[in-house]
Amino acid sequence: AGYANEPPLQRFLAGCYGDFKSDYSGTVADYIPELKRANPAHFGIGLVTIDGHVYEVGDSAMPFTIQSVSKAFVFALALDLVGEERVAAAIGVEPSGEAFNSIRLTNDNRPFNPMVNAGAIACSGLIHQVDGAHAFERIREKLSQFAGRELDVDDAVHASEALTGNRNRAIAWLLRNYLVLQDDVDAVLDTYFRQCAILVTARDLAVMAATLANRGVNPVTGVSVISPNIVARTLSVMTSSGMYDYAGEWIYRVGIPAKSGVGGGIVAALPSQMGLGTFSPCLDSHGNSVRGLKVCEALSSRFDLHMLNRS
Ligand code: GLN
Repeated sequence: AGYANEPPLQRFLAGCYGDFKSDYSGTVADYIPELKRANPAHFGIGLVTIDGHVYEVGDSAMPFTIQSVSKAFVFALALDLVGEERVAAAIGVEPSGEAFNSIRLTNDNRPFNPMVNAGAIACSGLIHQVDGAHAFERIREKLSQFAGRELDVDDAVHASEALTGNRNRAIAWLLRNYLVLQDDVDAVLDTYFRQCAILVTARDLAVMAATLANRGVNPVTGVSVISPNIVARTLSVMTSSGMYDYAGEWIYRVGIPAKSGVGGGIVAALPSQMGLGTFSPCLDSHGNSVRGLKVCEALSSRFDLHMLNRS
């Protein structure tokens, strides 16, 4: 009952949920011990249009850690706080063609882009240069504005990654060697680990994405979160590097700027249209959520949303 009266987007999302929920391919992230506890059955989708309509299906209110999805929003914050020149001096914008945790740097010893761990740790470092011990709080506040509600941290996931994140520690010390990081390396790393452990829902991610799609104004709260100029730069690096070493395939097949995280989240922002947030913890070999990819692909093809196919 009521099904036939549902708006087409709601019906479409319910269809995606039904079509993909039985797909258990991929595996939950296990290199952060606490993430192994994720439930592979969880599957939630949120979609928010730039006029503020919210659509949700499945486990769209289930909290999970934002992980690398944070990188897009923290990059935007770094641009806002220190300006484009200082960001460019520290971090490139070239796709690396490598995995998210690659330790490789460019020929001039910068991270390839802000969407891989090295670049994201460098962004956290830039925010530290401005805010010192207040850096994490600044990040949490900005991400909360994007989401339109106060976001918290999963302390168990933060502790688990802080305990085991030696690869990220190695990356950070390499950046310290090349003076990309200039502050206390341990403090910057702690900020990065904490930012990755911020708790969000698929609905939150959809609002965050819709804020990017809406030129930096949160369409649900009406709050202006970030300038349109910074939004364009953020969407650019999401387009070229947001899905790591799957970025080329992604933009070819789906054509919507997006960012994934190993907690199982994906944000996708289609400028002047909508934001999508998905949550499903089983990941493919690139670290992208399997069901999330499928939802994005289905949405793009069903409504002809490839960004290079606009009329
Ligand atoms: N916290 C994770 C890490 O640094 C984030 C990685 C991801 O989501 N791809 O390894």
